[in-house]
Amino acid sequence: MKEKVWKDCPACGAHGSMVLRGNLIERVDGKGYKPFSVKGLEGYICQKCHDGILTIKSENRLRVEIMENRARQDSARIPASALIPVEEIAKSLKVPRQTVHWMMRVGRMPFVYVGKQRFPFKDKSKKIFVKGQSHKMSDLANIH
Ligand SMILES: [Zn+2]
Repeated sequence: MKEKVWKDCPACGAHGSMVLRGNLIERVDGKGYKPFSVKGLEGYICQKCHDGILTIKSENRLRVEIMENRARQDSARIPASALIPVEEIAKSLKVPRQTVHWMMRVGRMPFVYVGKQRFPFKDKSKKIFVKGQSHKMSDLANIH
């Protein structure tokens, strides 16, 4: 995806108020997870209302870091019975196994670590979006 250059602020509507800044810190405070910060992000900040938009590259990095962080926290509490084999989820979604691995790697599918391997898991609260369709993680292991 092409990086967009922001000039006018989409939040307050100020013209030419957006300035590109590096070294931004985003505090992530998800429900049920220990808060943490992601540093070194880049984005456009409005000089008027101080609202900000991350660059696509930083947005992607943030998503990966959030998923990684949650995976590490979830790995300690998700029981083995909740794990979904990659093969099974690939069949449910009618995508190749590599797509499932890619989705986990880029932060598009929640997972936990078993050793160094990533596994998707059943969770009522988690949803993923594939080919324009939303799927509940808890349903995926049951659809064939
Ligand atoms: Zn603004």
